[in-house]
Amino acid sequence: MTSPAQHTRRAVVTGAFALAAGSALSLLPAGRARAAATAAAAGPEIVSCAGWGARAASESVVVLSNRPERIIVHHTATLNVTDYSQQRAFALARAIQTYHMDAQGWIDTGQHFTVSRGAYVMEGRHSSLAELRTGRRQVRAAHCVGQNNVSIGIENEGTYMTEEPPAAQFAKLADLCAYICDQYGLPASEIYGHRDFNSTSCPGDRLYAQLPTLRKQVAARLGTSLTEPASDPFQHLIDEAAAHALSPYPEYVPERLLLR
Ligand SMILES: [Zn+2]
Repeated sequence: MTSPAQHTRRAVVTGAFALAAGSALSLLPAGRARAAATAAAAGPEIVSCAGWGARAASESVVVLSNRPERIIVHHTATLNVTDYSQQRAFALARAIQTYHMDAQGWIDTGQHFTVSRGAYVMEGRHSSLAELRTGRRQVRAAHCVGQNNVSIGIENEGTYMTEEPPAAQFAKLADLCAYICDQYGLPASEIYGHRDFNSTSCPGDRLYAQLPTLRKQVAARLGTSLTEPASDPFQHLIDEAAAHALSPYPEYVPERLLLR
C-alpha cells in the first residue's frame, strides 16, 4: 500500500524528471551542447543505403517531426557466420531489404541501422542516416510494434540465444548507440531489447543479458554516469507493450536470400 505522501513525492520526482528531460530536449541537437571531445561525438563509420546498394523504397519514407525516445536492440536471427567481410555485410543488408519489401510487404528495410558480425554499420531504412546526422527528427520504421514512431531500431547480425556476439560487433553496437544518444540527447539508460516491448525472443537471451553492460559502455562513451533507472518511469509502458500478442513482425530472414 502506498501512502498519499509517497504518491506526492513520486509525482514530484516524476515531474522533475519530465522537466529535466524537456529542457535537455530543447537543446538542438543535444549532442552539440556537450563537449565535442567525447568518444561518441564523431560516431562510427555508417555505410549509407547507396553505399551497400539498396533498392529505392517503394514509396516515400515518413520523416517524423519528433526525436526518438529510446533505442531498441534486435538480432537478425540469421546464422552466426564467420564471414566478417564487408561483402557479407552488404549482402546481409540487401537480403533484409528484399525480405522486408517482398515478403513482408513493407516500403523499405524495417530497422534504422544494421551491425554485421564483422562490425560494419549500415543504414537500414532510407533517410535514417541523414536524420541522425541532424539529430532533430527520426524516420518512421517497422521494427517493433508500438515503438516505430518513438524509437531507433538496430538489427545485429546473428542469433544470440546461446552465443554472445563477436566482441568487435558488440563494441561497434556500443559506438553506434553512443552516437545515437549523443545526437538525440538520450541517456544511456534508454536502451532496450525488442522483447521488452513485444512477445519475441529477440534479441536472444545472451545479447539481452548483455544490455546492462551495453548501457554502461554507452554511458562511458558519452562521459556520463548511468544514474537514470532503466525501468523507471517507463515501466508501465513496457508492461503494457509486453502484454500484447505475438509480434507479427519476426526478423527471420531466409538464409537463401543471402546466397544470391
Ligand atoms: Zn527484434
